[in-house]
Amino acid sequence: MLRIVLSLFCLALPVHLFAAWALDGVGTFRFEPVADGVWVMHGPVEEPNARNHGFMNNPAIIETKAGLVMIDPGSTLEVGRKVIEELQRVSDAPVVAVINTHIHGDHWLANQAVAERWPGVVIYAHPAMLAQAESDRSHAWLELLERATEGHSRGTRIVPPTRPLADGDELTIGSHHFRILASTPSHTDTDIMIHHVESGTVFLGDNAFRGRLGQFDASARIQGNIEALKRALDLKARVYVPGHGRSGSADEVASPYLDYLQRLMTAVREGFENDLEDYEIKARLLPEMSAWASWHGFDKFFGKHVNRAFLEVEAEEM
Ligand SMILES: [Zn+2]
Ligand SMILES: [Zn+2]
Repeated sequence: MLRIVLSLFCLALPVHLFAAWALDGVGTFRFEPVADGVWVMHGPVEEPNARNHGFMNNPAIIETKAGLVMIDPGSTLEVGRKVIEELQRVSDAPVVAVINTHIHGDHWLANQAVAERWPGVVIYAHPAMLAQAESDRSHAWLELLERATEGHSRGTRIVPPTRPLADGDELTIGSHHFRILASTPSHTDTDIMIHHVESGTVFLGDNAFRGRLGQFDASARIQGNIEALKRALDLKARVYVPGHGRSGSADEVASPYLDYLQRLMTAVREGFENDLEDYEIKARLLPEMSAWASWHGFDKFFGKHVNRAFLEVEAEEM
């Protein structure tokens, strides 16, 4: 009897109140509203592994009159299919466009799942990403994900973006406006940030991390990342969505990472001028960085970031 009453009760409530994508030992994931007509699925704040199946970024959708615009669908075919299942709980509109924020595979290798479900979807990215999407750089990501997820990414293949979006471009889809900011190189040489004008939301890609630090690859420029974040803050948007970590206000999302990068560059410049080595700079700076010490990956990446900033300052001085 109780079971019948419970199932009748459940039937009376919208299904999306219950359902979510559950990853054992990691958490449950669903699209959450962050602004009117804008949802973000905040991924695990960690690196790819077998438990999270490689899911670690923030896929987002924006509802327009022409259908959904999706930003960064995720890392693998399997993850993309799960993300699509979840988005269908909040909207029955098709995805008509995908925007990839940059070339790191955790953000875009799930393009394949979107193209499989909606073959007409148009995929956009920075021109430098279009040029490199099928290069060794992407194949290295496929291999990294397969290794890290212990095979969960198997079957994933590259479905590259085909339409370029450069700094200053404005894309109009279903009467909604998407303004593009690209201050490259920053996190990589392929980053774009997207300002959705109607909702006042800025998608920062990996130009901002929250609660986690990540790697700067060989194409990065930390000073460029600082400039990019300043431009994003100048927009005075209502909502900022980082590449990793929860969305929120400028003070919650963009400023803390900007502060981290600025302290890093300032200390490294000063140290360089005083003929200190990078490990000496690291030791001096460490006590100042307590605000970020609890972020996932701090112990692994802080030293690498000091080293990276040191090389950047050295190159500037040459
Ligand atoms: Zn990245
Ligand atoms: Zn990322």
